[in-house]
Amino acid sequence: MEDVRRTKLLIIGSGPAGYTAAVYGARAMLAPILVEGLQPGGQLTITTDVENWPGETAIMGPDLMAKMRTQAEHVGAELVSDIIASVDLSKRPFVAVADSGTVFEADTIVVATGASARWLGLESETRLRGRGVSACATCDGFFFRGKHVAVVGGGNTAVEEALFLTNFASKVSLIHRRDALRADKTNQARLFANPKVEMIWNAAVSGVIGEDGVTGIELTDTETGSKRTMDVDGLFIAIGHDPATALFQGQLAMDAEGYILTAPDSTATSVEGVFAAGDVKDKLYRQAVTAAGMGCMAALEAERLLAHGAKSEAREAA
Ligand SMILES: Cc1cc2nc3c(=O)[nH]c(=O)nc-3n(C[C@H](O)[C@H](O)[C@H](O)COP(=O)(O)OP(=O)(O)OC[C@H]3O[C@@H](n4cnc5c(N)ncnc54)[C@H](O)[C@@H]3O)c2cc1C
Repeated sequence: MEDVRRTKLLIIGSGPAGYTAAVYGARAMLAPILVEGLQPGGQLTITTDVENWPGETAIMGPDLMAKMRTQAEHVGAELVSDIIASVDLSKRPFVAVADSGTVFEADTIVVATGASARWLGLESETRLRGRGVSACATCDGFFFRGKHVAVVGGGNTAVEEALFLTNFASKVSLIHRRDALRADKTNQARLFANPKVEMIWNAAVSGVIGEDGVTGIELTDTETGSKRTMDVDGLFIAIGHDPATALFQGQLAMDAEGYILTAPDSTATSVEGVFAAGDVKDKLYRQAVTAAGMGCMAALEAERLLAHGAKSEAREAA
């Protein structure tokens, strides 16, 4: 027989946004159900030290997420180990079907499915992730004070990451496959004027060198195919992110890159009763604390909608 679960609030995703929405939703007596997905705890479970979470001098990413999970359970959220495979946002209540076959019927939904950084796909890169290989300068730049780091990419994000890293590193080498950047001209001018920045054109990173930490990289010339090595202490990959929004294509308004659009100062999406929080809607900050903040907003907005049945003014603008 079909397993049908009815809830006032369904939260999809178990990163900082999802767990925080669960805490606020449970404390607002909405008895939320949170479906954890393929990566319980989200992106922070694949990192080591987190030094910018308020109240923690330093905490391992998996430990921080375990604490958030415990707190969400403690206040009464129901955490379900499953993956949402499809949603129908045209029906009321909304319908979400999980991989296990469970059908969730929900009055409101918080989408907190996050995003994932694009990686180069090298075995050595995966092995050294969190040990010198990073996709987040804001998160990890501080660990490279006085060191030489390399950044891979050619768009605005790569240029901004490289410039940000000059605040800490003694030298930043920006590696790009072509002989010109895609980043806008103002960003490029700032980059080229920075004495700490070295440009390496027509090169691809073909290997990361090091046992317990990064000591260098292998570069392949994209024109000649010749290889060389370069000593560096860290490698930042800045080739883009993919928001986990395939489930919602055609049902929620999104930008050209697939990020869910929300109303200004709100997590309200283009469908009343559906809210989006965290990296799934944010390509600017991409931080645990901002994701958690949006999770809080989303649960509060869901609670208000359920309490007042009011049409969300904020959504009108989404
Ligand atoms: C290596 C690394 C290091 C980082 N270091 C820091 C740091 O030091 N400080 C910091 O502030 N930020 C850091 N970040 C960024 C931070 O991890 C993210 O900004 C944050 O995790 C975003 O939270 P989120 O809740 O939006 O989504 P995520 O953490 O991306 O979580 C998404 C969740 O959605 C779930 N999900 C996806 N699809 C489905 C589905 N179909 N059904 C059910 N569930 C689904 C996944 O299982 C996952 O639980 C780091 C990121 C990385 C990758």
